[in-house]
Amino acid sequence: MPVLKRSADAGRLLLDLVTRDPAFVRGGELEPGDIPVFTFHGLKPRSFERKLAYLSDAGYQAIGLGDYLDALTGRRNATRKSVLLTIDDGRATTWTVGYPILKRFGMRATAFLVTSAVHDDDAASKTIGDVPEDEWGPLVSRDESPDRSFVTWGEVRAMQDVIDIASHTHLHARVPMSDAVDGVTTEAMRRGYGEFDCPFVWLDGRQVRGRDVPVGTPLPASAPRLSGRPAYRAIDRRFETEAELRDAVRFDLGEARRLLREKADMDATSLCYPWHADSPLARQVAAEVGYVAAFAGKASAAPAISRPGSDLFSLARVGEDYVERLPGPGRRTLLSVLRQKLRRG
Ligand SMILES: [Zn+2]
Repeated sequence: MPVLKRSADAGRLLLDLVTRDPAFVRGGELEPGDIPVFTFHGLKPRSFERKLAYLSDAGYQAIGLGDYLDALTGRRNATRKSVLLTIDDGRATTWTVGYPILKRFGMRATAFLVTSAVHDDDAASKTIGDVPEDEWGPLVSRDESPDRSFVTWGEVRAMQDVIDIASHTHLHARVPMSDAVDGVTTEAMRRGYGEFDCPFVWLDGRQVRGRDVPVGTPLPASAPRLSGRPAYRAIDRRFETEAELRDAVRFDLGEARRLLREKADMDATSLCYPWHADSPLARQVAAEVGYVAAFAGKASAAPAISRPGSDLFSLARVGEDYVERLPGPGRRTLLSVLRQKLRRG
């Protein structure tokens, strides 16, 4: 990793630590009733298992989304020492790695699915709980596979005894902000999560991204769809109108709910903003199409852990690295967590 990037990352980490992370990350206690929310993406067996073992040994319970929202809205008192584990994007390891480990520990998690990325297949693959360890390889690396990098609808239905399902929008889209070139498509943008980092561009009169855009194609500067900024339409050299913008946001938020109802028979009323980017427009449209809660990244203002009375459309989360900073026996030192975060970059 270049030295400059590494020191910029370290600076940001330290700033967040002092200004935005919950007190327990810095060595403080957890306020009674506080329920920290942790953010996971791709899952690795050893790391995920170690975190659940830590929670279990320290007497924490990873609760379901319904219980979390009930506690937050005062419908039910928070059980002592609860946490919410959230897994973004619906990558394949949510099923192949997360599901069997959660089940073994009797813990729950919440998966935020990108419905356009869920493979339209009723089959569910094996998990690492089904095969001996020397056969884990393809299951653990499935997030990077060319054709099964996300979960299938069959897996989504099969995981619901352990994993609650919520929305991460239909497209997890970035859209152009101008016609100025700002980079090119890379090989990494052709598969798995990498496709989301490629903005939608116009090619032969269609809006495409990721594997549908040849490597090396110039890309415009872009922003997350839910940022509320109008997209630049290179095809007719103008920005989209307010009405077009609202329609696009409505489709991205509403289509996810529609598909989750159709394919998994579930009424998903919680949302996670892709790239943690929200806007007054995104919040307004989310409420209009039936969401009642939305998860963000780190809170920009106190509290760093959402509590009863907090804004339900800006629920605060913290990175998975800090699970083992929760008060408990064998708590990891902050230095060892930070070293690992920086090494991974
Ligand atoms: Zn995401």
